[in-house]
Amino acid sequence: MGLALGIDFGTSGARAIAINPDRAILAQATCTYDLQHPQVWKTSLFSLLEQLPLECRQQITRILINGTSATVLFCDREGEAIAPPLMYNDDRGKAVIPQLQRFAPADHLVLSATSSLAKLFWGLENLSFGDRPIYVLHQADWLASLLHGRLGISDYHNALKLGYDVHNLCYPDWFPQIPTTLKLPKIYTPGEAIAPILPDIAQSFSLPSDCLICAGTTDSIAAFIASGASFSGDAVTSLGSTLVLKLLSEIPVNDSRYGIYSHRFGDRYLVGGASNTGGAVLRHFFTDVELDTFSRQINPHQESPLDYYPLLGKGDRFPINDPNLLPRLDPRPDNPVEFLHGLLQAIARIEALGYQRLSELGATPLKRLYTAGGGAKSDTWSQLRQTYLSVPFLTPISPLAAYGSACLALNPI
Ligand code: ADP
Repeated sequence: MGLALGIDFGTSGARAIAINPDRAILAQATCTYDLQHPQVWKTSLFSLLEQLPLECRQQITRILINGTSATVLFCDREGEAIAPPLMYNDDRGKAVIPQLQRFAPADHLVLSATSSLAKLFWGLENLSFGDRPIYVLHQADWLASLLHGRLGISDYHNALKLGYDVHNLCYPDWFPQIPTTLKLPKIYTPGEAIAPILPDIAQSFSLPSDCLICAGTTDSIAAFIASGASFSGDAVTSLGSTLVLKLLSEIPVNDSRYGIYSHRFGDRYLVGGASNTGGAVLRHFFTDVELDTFSRQINPHQESPLDYYPLLGKGDRFPINDPNLLPRLDPRPDNPVEFLHGLLQAIARIEALGYQRLSELGATPLKRLYTAGGGAKSDTWSQLRQTYLSVPFLTPISPLAAYGSACLALNPI
């Protein structure tokens, strides 16, 4: 078997990583962009391929691209986008939610202003599709189509927010009538081979003519895979601006009250929940240098008497669903080390409550934990968190989504 190439299209740039069958990294390439536009993505994709060493390119036999979840574009039968993409966080779809409520089950994931289905309906109302065929694609689908040349293909990770039924692997019975000219993607399993690379692309970049382009995934699932988490009960906590939990479970959990939903992951599920607490609150009070310095002065084996719920604004959804929940940040000690201790401890308790909540709702209980995001740097925080979560803490193999995509290309789920 040759090399696998994983490509990650994130919020501010793209990265490619080539790995061998032992999952060792052989080459990497990066590029940044400040404009989210299909032409920019295309140029970035080709720039990444060009940057890879020739002898590496010549051995690549599988390529897989991940993109930001729910970034949607509409294109014609030539693959040309007919309007700027609707980015992952674009909530113009809120205007069509009342329409979606007429057919989608109450509490379904598609009833969010940023879902792919809300974007599709927004497009139907606001873009001039005319009588020509129009393909609805996600960022990763469109980029892969530049390599394999087929439009109208997606994967069941990207398609979840389009309303695809990942349990029965079909569009659900409730799926609305849409014009026959609007082409929904055919859904593949993430990592499954779609088609060989287009001959002219293979030739231009000295890639093997039988190199296979695989069905993609989303950036956050690729990052989960990159950690090395693979057993039921394995989880990744992301200590970034917000606190995000992802747990590999035998049983799916979907509970809109808590904003919990499950991606299919082969015969298992990737259950996720996100709290509004997290690093953004820390950054509000401290610089990264202060976080580093002060956290080293904390004794993680001593309990802080402070009982905080760190939020920047009102309300949280997970693990406590209360839109009116107020930030609890008092009393504030004069000593910044004590204050930080209280904050880190509070976030650690919220994380533990999060995993407890997932298991109460039926998910496989947490067995092993990987940590990602800026907060993973802090050993003190890690020790503090171990007080509340008595499972082994493991270091992710890689923090890079591109690595996860390469692993998925090598071993489809
Ligand atoms: P984003 O979600 O924005 O991608 P990152 O994964 O880059 O976030 O993480 C940034 C967060 O990491 C910051 O909000 C900061 O609070 C936190 N952070 C950075 N350094 C430390 C540290 N030494 N200890 C604890 N938290 C830290």
